Amino acid sequence: MKVLVLNSGSSSQKSCLYELAGALPEHPPEPPWQGTIEWAPLGQLANLDVKHAGSRVIHEERAIRSRQEAIEHLLHTLWEGKARVISGPEEINVVGHRVVHGGQEYTQPTVITPQVIAALSRLAVFAPLHNRAEVEGIETVERVVGPVPQVAVFDTAFHSQLPLPAAAYPGPFEWLEQGIRRYGFHGINHQYCAERAAQLLAKDLDSLRLVTCHLGNGCSLAAVRNGRSIDTTMGFTPLDGLMMGSRSGSIDPGILTYLMRQSQMTGEEMDDLLNKKSGLLGISGVSSDMREVLTAMASGNPRAKLAFEMFVHQLRSYIGAMIGVLEGIDVLVFTAGIGENSPEVRATACGGFGFLGLKLDLEKNARPQADQDIATPDSAVRVLVIRAQEDWAIARECWRLARDAASVDLRLRAQDETATAKASQFQKLKETERP
Ligand code: AMP
Repeated sequence: MKVLVLNSGSSSQKSCLYELAGALPEHPPEPPWQGTIEWAPLGQLANLDVKHAGSRVIHEERAIRSRQEAIEHLLHTLWEGKARVISGPEEINVVGHRVVHGGQEYTQPTVITPQVIAALSRLAVFAPLHNRAEVEGIETVERVVGPVPQVAVFDTAFHSQLPLPAAAYPGPFEWLEQGIRRYGFHGINHQYCAERAAQLLAKDLDSLRLVTCHLGNGCSLAAVRNGRSIDTTMGFTPLDGLMMGSRSGSIDPGILTYLMRQSQMTGEEMDDLLNKKSGLLGISGVSSDMREVLTAMASGNPRAKLAFEMFVHQLRSYIGAMIGVLEGIDVLVFTAGIGENSPEVRATACGGFGFLGLKLDLEKNARPQADQDIATPDSAVRVLVIRAQEDWAIARECWRLARDAASVDLRLRAQDETATAKASQFQKLKETERP
């Protein structure tokens, strides 16, 4: 089965093609085709890369007239030119999309129908930058690949069973009725890491209390018990919680009302300030990239030092909060760009938990292999570094959904491509969706 995955973000478009036969492999396979576009403002040059099994085959700088056109161009490289890996779009069996916000309605991977697209567009009020890009991706696939089944996998879904005391904000009760509550994000990766941790440790996931730390451009933690997220640091939006590359994370809401009164800032200006000019960038004045902050700190930049120290202070504080919610901890997971690559961040964060018997193997921490336990054998807490594999996690969900729909021919390339035929094919898949 050939599964195409689209991960449409506000700043990049990542795509992968996976080829799955028989049972799912134990280790995430290297996708035979991987395409990425790093977006630039319209009219400027965007970077487009295609890799085969990790090696670059195409690198282009392209002037972008529209995002759809660029995604269309990227998809065509699957079956045209030197990067081609399939003979035509009809070979693709299913397309999976990462969708950031599924609201309260979507808590499972879902076959995309016109109704789902309408709902995703409605949910764009909660995540305007993301959900719009995702709908564009879905429509482009529909146009370029044809009537292939498409599946939405939601970043909010893993957190959809947060207990109400963790999900509710202590504003007026009516907020809950209006959908103002903690949704949580990065759920695809938090869930993947929890499952992968259990696999690596050869333990039943239900027996483990895990704190998963997704530390990338965006940062969030999740507390996982019985295989479920029971608390997380991101909230109503991906702005909540830990400070991030250029996002503030949680701040006293009184600062916002103060700024509104003092400087008459508009909502948009405030959004820009909190999302793009805060966090590591805002404090260091150097960069939103932890690598550059670390380099500046090493050369004596006091603001870079403060940014790093604030980051690890907050990280320790949130790990502690999650341990309290879990009533203990068996496994601490570090994942995503900073989590996977910064020994300094991991060591400083773990240094706060020696009193629990957590002991880091400093050599392993300095140079971890992909997906490795970096705690000493006698540590009371396992500490794992796990490579974020969102695209693979999405492909797996598509595979599971397709397996559940085994009686349906997934190559829904109907002879009769009328809207009615397409709707009934989607319907057949939908009937087999898990509850
Ligand atoms: P992600 O969003 O998962 O792609 O993570 C991106 C972030 O990872 C970058 O902004 C960097 O701050 C961080 N990162 C990547 N490599 C390193 C590294 N070697 N050391 C520290 N941070 C890193």
